[in-house]
Amino acid sequence: MTRQIAILSGKGGAGKTSITASIIKMMNSVVAVDADVNASNLPILLPHTQQSTKPYYGMNIAQVDHDQCTGCALCLSACQFDAISMANNGRILIDSDCEGCAACAFVCSENAISMAERKGGDWYVSSIDNGYLIHADLIPGEDNSGKLITKVRNEASAIAKEQNIAYIVIDGPPGTSCQAISSITGADLVLAVVEESLSGLSDYRRLAELVQKFSIPHFVLLNKAGFSADVEENIVNAAAEFDGTIIGRIPFDRKIPEALQKLQSLAEMNDYKDIIIELLEQITSSLKN
Ligand code: SF4
Ligand code: SF4
Repeated sequence: MTRQIAILSGKGGAGKTSITASIIKMMNSVVAVDADVNASNLPILLPHTQQSTKPYYGMNIAQVDHDQCTGCALCLSACQFDAISMANNGRILIDSDCEGCAACAFVCSENAISMAERKGGDWYVSSIDNGYLIHADLIPGEDNSGKLITKVRNEASAIAKEQNIAYIVIDGPPGTSCQAISSITGADLVLAVVEESLSGLSDYRRLAELVQKFSIPHFVLLNKAGFSADVEENIVNAAAEFDGTIIGRIPFDRKIPEALQKLQSLAEMNDYKDIIIELLEQITSSLKN
């Protein structure tokens, strides 16, 4: 049975994607998913060969058959999103605010409006050294990112099943938005990467509350640690409050961002490789229970 591990942080800049890439690189076989469809960074840290690109259609958009339109203007008043206008020449125009509700098509007695698919982005399947990487790019301004995350996760599940791969690792988006919810729904375990800072603490509390609602067990990895024993203690206490298990601590070390600039993860750093191996062992052991 495939197990799904979602790696999240309550905020951006906590080091989540570099930790995720490091863990993925140490696995025997894996399907990696970048669920940050607005700004996918995991492909930057995971050498990959793109195998396929597929279009993503998020929601429908209204389109007008001008030959059928009589200019009655009923559609203008039906649109609650102010997405329809009439040009000086009487031509009906649909703009990018169209939410695809189809109210205009419903009121048009001339059947001059129909709903057409609108491309919202692309999603990609790539091979990596030890498995596959699925990621996506949502076109800026497009909605329905949750639907696209579900799409890439479903594709990951299908590949894992077909290839008999035991683990899917999901690099979630920063924050606790609906995209984060789409990333953890159905996951077997969440790893929270928590920056040792006051904002990291409050963001962790929000993430832990969310994870608790889904009744998913979670581990906590302290990252960029070593600045404040008080903050670290507060994070440890918060983890205990939310039934999270601290499974590791990575200190702040300038060598880490320097390595990242060379597209190297912790898995390629002698000082940190063993920590990543230990993390992975704890994660996989917990999923065997
Ligand atoms: S409701 Fe139909 S016929 Fe009337 S203006 Fe709109 S598109 Fe044209
Ligand atoms: S589909 Fe809905 S949102 Fe889009 S133009 Fe028609 S009424 Fe407006």
